[in-house]
Amino acid sequence: MSARLRLANRVCVVTGAGSGIGLETSLQFASEGGLILLTDINETAVAQAAELVNKQFPSADAEGIKCDVSKEADVKAAIDRAVEKWGRLDVLFNNAGIMHPADDDAVNTEEKIWDLTQSINVKGVWYGCKHAVLAMRENKADPEKGLHQGGSIINVASFVAIMGAATPQLAYTASKGAVLAMTRELAMVHAREGIRFNALCPGPIRTPLLMDFLNTAEKLNRRLVHNPMGRFGEAVEQAKAVVFLASDDSSYINGTDFLVDGGLHACYVTPE
Ligand code: NAD
Repeated sequence: MSARLRLANRVCVVTGAGSGIGLETSLQFASEGGLILLTDINETAVAQAAELVNKQFPSADAEGIKCDVSKEADVKAAIDRAVEKWGRLDVLFNNAGIMHPADDDAVNTEEKIWDLTQSINVKGVWYGCKHAVLAMRENKADPEKGLHQGGSIINVASFVAIMGAATPQLAYTASKGAVLAMTRELAMVHAREGIRFNALCPGPIRTPLLMDFLNTAEKLNRRLVHNPMGRFGEAVEQAKAVVFLASDDSSYINGTDFLVDGGLHACYVTPE
């Protein structure tokens, strides 16, 4: 008898699924049997992403819809759509986030950049958690389908919420610190309801978000020299960790700052 796929019959919503880590995670969720609603502020990108998922994994029954996570009505509509289509919500990957090119230090970051960053990276995660909790509270166990009460919510923070960097992006760093704190508290509040919350802390990953920010060789090398593995990470390396946090493989893991950073957080001197 073949083993059940890790996300078989699980209904999953992914925010920021049009690119990078969100897109790779949608593909990994599909490869593990998940039913996936991809969402993104970029309507064209998310439609193409859903098409790609369905092309590779027709059983994912994936759908792509527009959702700006900084708007509560959009987030509620996305969760409602998943429940309407598949009857429940098992996994929310709160991944959408921005790192604005004009984000800087305490003196040079404009208030509008600060506010925009917090509204997407922090408020967007809160809205997702709020509407996912309301949906997951309705989940009934269905042992035959391998489904449980509650669910798993993964919020994307960053290694910069844990480590100091002398290359400033203050609004972004503060926003990711807020995600860590929020995730920890939510994990405690909802633990007895069977809803797990974990924060994914990626290291620097080769996606448009970082590569657009590090647009010169000098900026790239300023970071690479501090990386013990001598390279940036790949989005798929985050996606595989997200599958673990979404699935029952992590059933006793709750409230963690889950670092997937190639060892960066543990590094003093890099290998030559
Ligand atoms: P990316 O830019 O490749 O993808 C982000 C996606 O989010 C895009 O498709 C974009 O359209 C979407 N998005 C932006 N604003 C949105 C909004 N208001 N509502 C909905 N969707 C929106 O970036 P990525 O590297 O895949 O980043 C994903 C997450 O990982 C982000 O939260 C980011 O902060 C985090 N992260 C990335 C790195 C890295 O090095 N790339 C490191 C640590 C953390």
